Amino acid sequence: MKTLLKIFLVGLIILLGVLIFNTMKLKNEKQNQVSTIDIPKDDTAAKHLSEAIQIKTVSFGDTLPIDTAEFLKFRMFMEKTYPLMHSKLEKQSFNQFSYVFKWKGKDSTKAPFVLMAHLDVVPVEAIAESKWTYPSFSGMIKQDTIWGRGAVDDKSSAIAIMEATEQLLKNNFTPERTFYICFGHDEEIAGKRGANIVSKWFKENNIKPAFVLDEGGMIDTEKFKDVKRPVAVIATGEKGFVNVDISVTIPGGHSSQPEKETAIDVLNSAIQKVRSNQMPPIITPPLQSLLERTAAEQSFLKKMIISNMWLFKNTVIKNLEENKQTNAMVHTTLVPTIVKAGIKDNVIPSIANATFNSRILPGQTSDDVVNFVKSAINDDRVSVKKQTISLMEASSSTPSDHPSFKMLESITQKIVPNVLVSPYLMIGATDSRYYRPFSEAVLNFTPMQNAKGFHGIDERIGITDLSRMISFYKLVLAEK
Ligand SMILES: [Zn+2]
Repeated sequence: MKTLLKIFLVGLIILLGVLIFNTMKLKNEKQNQVSTIDIPKDDTAAKHLSEAIQIKTVSFGDTLPIDTAEFLKFRMFMEKTYPLMHSKLEKQSFNQFSYVFKWKGKDSTKAPFVLMAHLDVVPVEAIAESKWTYPSFSGMIKQDTIWGRGAVDDKSSAIAIMEATEQLLKNNFTPERTFYICFGHDEEIAGKRGANIVSKWFKENNIKPAFVLDEGGMIDTEKFKDVKRPVAVIATGEKGFVNVDISVTIPGGHSSQPEKETAIDVLNSAIQKVRSNQMPPIITPPLQSLLERTAAEQSFLKKMIISNMWLFKNTVIKNLEENKQTNAMVHTTLVPTIVKAGIKDNVIPSIANATFNSRILPGQTSDDVVNFVKSAINDDRVSVKKQTISLMEASSSTPSDHPSFKMLESITQKIVPNVLVSPYLMIGATDSRYYRPFSEAVLNFTPMQNAKGFHGIDERIGITDLSRMISFYKLVLAEK
């Protein structure tokens, strides 16, 4: 009995030793050693963003036409507001309203950098309009804040890039490397006619960017409650996208004498089966980095848990699953977004369909999604098919020790005092996905703090934030 107790105690000591040893290895990211720069408040840029918001460059839907007059207006606004950019840089249009500006650098032997943004915005639902503090396309400037659809996503990026470029051109600046500034006009409907076509042009001309920067992660001082510093997250990878259609065909009939099970019933139960389970969780490398970097700023217990994932992985995953955003970081998600059946109140339909939208984690594939759906439903009456038209497998991630990540990290430290910069995995999709296959590094970051109303009500940005973004892009353009 004594021997057993001894063995148990020795085991316990070894376990504690390992736990503490790993915990001590988790080092805080070095405190900000770069000094921050002064960021002048740019009221002129704020007026330009306000003007840009007032032009309704809306992407309504995949199959719905755009208002070309508005997109034309936006082009004229760009030409009028940024004349040097239009006269000194080489400009090309793609499908009329997507643009590429080439700014030739001093050193043509270096691979170019790409700055991206999109000019389209999502619509404002009629029912939501009355809930806005100011009309959604007013571009109202009130108390240092610019209000309106696109203030966050993504006209602020487009405007900040153009302001930075124009201001540098005014000072006769030439970048060291060649820069391509790419603006898509249909990002909100998957970028098929914009970024997709532009990326093909890059491939045809054998242009291989060393670095691509698009919208994505932001600066946050609210969500990471236990971290006492602002946290800037830079996405090093993004999830994939697939739609899976399920369909049930069972002869219908008169609604006065229904069969025990109708097509709708079978479809309904199939949806429930898929929704009651999740695909296996994965802690991807960017998420692992985010957990480590933020844990290093927190309590000893938190540090111990994150630095000993071999023991606490399940606990960590359970914790992440509690919140919809963090759940989406550890799981490939699946949710029905379209359900169709029936044409008349007294006719039982003979066909019922649903579409699941799935966002695929790196490490899983669209085939894994289809197989998961099939085995969850496990019913021959339900056909399962993946859509190929909008399919995008999950991207490979840019390693966080890549020079371009370090570059953005150090630039971010210059514009945000005492910031903690971390990689993360983006759960939405952006235009930059088209560039991943032929670019050395693709990162997603918008240097905006605590953004509000993105895709929703009261979308807005502070003038300070916009000014910071301009300084940020200037620093990127000045990189060697
Ligand atoms: Zn966007």
